[in-house]
Amino acid sequence: MNNPFQNAMAQLDKVAKITKAKNFSPELLARLREPDRDIRIAIPVEMDDGSLKIFEGYRVEYNNALGPYKGGIRYHPGTNIEEVKALAFWMTLKCAVAGIPMGGGKGGITVDPKALSKSELERLSRGWVRKLADVLGPRKDVPAPDLNTTPEIMAWMNDEFMKLIGEKTGATFTGKPIEKGGSEGREQATGMGGYYVFEALRKRMKLPAKCAVAVQGFGNVGRNAARVFAEQGHTIVAVSDSKSGIYATGGLDINKILEYKKITGGLKDFPGAKNITNEELLELSCDLLIPAAFENQITAENADKIKAKAILELANGPTTPEADEILWGKIEIPYEKGIWIIPDILANSGGVTVSYFEWEQNLKGEHWSQEEVLGKLKEKMKDAAEKVFERTLAHKTHLRMGAFILALESISERM
Ligand code: NAD
Repeated sequence: MNNPFQNAMAQLDKVAKITKAKNFSPELLARLREPDRDIRIAIPVEMDDGSLKIFEGYRVEYNNALGPYKGGIRYHPGTNIEEVKALAFWMTLKCAVAGIPMGGGKGGITVDPKALSKSELERLSRGWVRKLADVLGPRKDVPAPDLNTTPEIMAWMNDEFMKLIGEKTGATFTGKPIEKGGSEGREQATGMGGYYVFEALRKRMKLPAKCAVAVQGFGNVGRNAARVFAEQGHTIVAVSDSKSGIYATGGLDINKILEYKKITGGLKDFPGAKNITNEELLELSCDLLIPAAFENQITAENADKIKAKAILELANGPTTPEADEILWGKIEIPYEKGIWIIPDILANSGGVTVSYFEWEQNLKGEHWSQEEVLGKLKEKMKDAAEKVFERTLAHKTHLRMGAFILALESISERM
């Protein structure tokens, strides 16, 4: 499997190469090759049977040129410091692309959360905060949820932090439940933001008003994206989770799938749909493919088999640099042919944007309506998509490089 941090640095090397005329300084590029700090912690947790288990946790504070470090916390058995560093690097660029005054960070714990009881999970989450409290805070570092972390976990963490530090605004953790200071719209923010970005670019990518869409991953991001795209008149032809996928050319009913998954624990044998593997889902003939699960899904091995006309990267790092090259090779300028990739740092920036809105509401002691939050989100996503598209055309490059150029322009002004 590709090392995600090496992937991220390969992307940075590429942007340095294609923007020679623009002259991003070697100092800026060198600063962006290393995080400001990466912290590893050991978290002792008392298990329900009375034994003590030590978990490894992380926080990477990558860069704060634009504002306090901001980024989610991931719980996964495969999580390691290289992955967290890559995610923190992408967060730095993502905040810059979205035009919000936040820097980039990320955190995680190497753990299979499904193997823990709820009380063990709570003790682990509170333990992560106790070890890192010194570096966190509304003006320093503001974590949020990511893979396998939920509003409830954010509420435990926020509560632990407020007890330890006596901080009252509640603005240190975002993604909290609404009754604990969370923002309206946070749950659907990443999927919704992805939809706004897609709509801003759809005509330029020459895609129809009603697209056939396949979604990999059915967690917070995937299921909300599937729901939003379906509500907007697109047809969701396939979805998958870590175990399996389902496919129906006529379209899938997302609410019925949610009910079915609640009862059966999976997607397999959903009535009226064909069972498919995750590999098959990625290679389906459709207008839009949405990877919303994990990194390294579109690789040198399967890039040639991708038949979608466009890819909206709602997961972080789903496409390896090798696959990017293969897919970019199919584009013929002026972009009449080929597969568009709307890159993660633009496509999924709706999540951090509404996190930023939550932080702002907490600091001001306000609570905005869902309509207000989504209105502001739409404006930000449209603006970011258009700016990325301008850079892409100006440099005759692809959208990922367009997004990197926009991000580096804004970070370089502040470093
Ligand atoms: P989640 O834990 O809620 O859901 C993850 C989903 O992916 C689950 O349905 C799981 O079954 C599935 N999955 C896991 N491994 C898989 C595999 N190998 N193949 C297919 N499916 C697999 O996580 P999430 O919050 O929805 O995050 C998904 C992705 O989106 C991650 O890359 C995350 O970094 C990114 N992201 C999340 C947010 C957010 O707001 N939560 C914001 C930006 C980006």
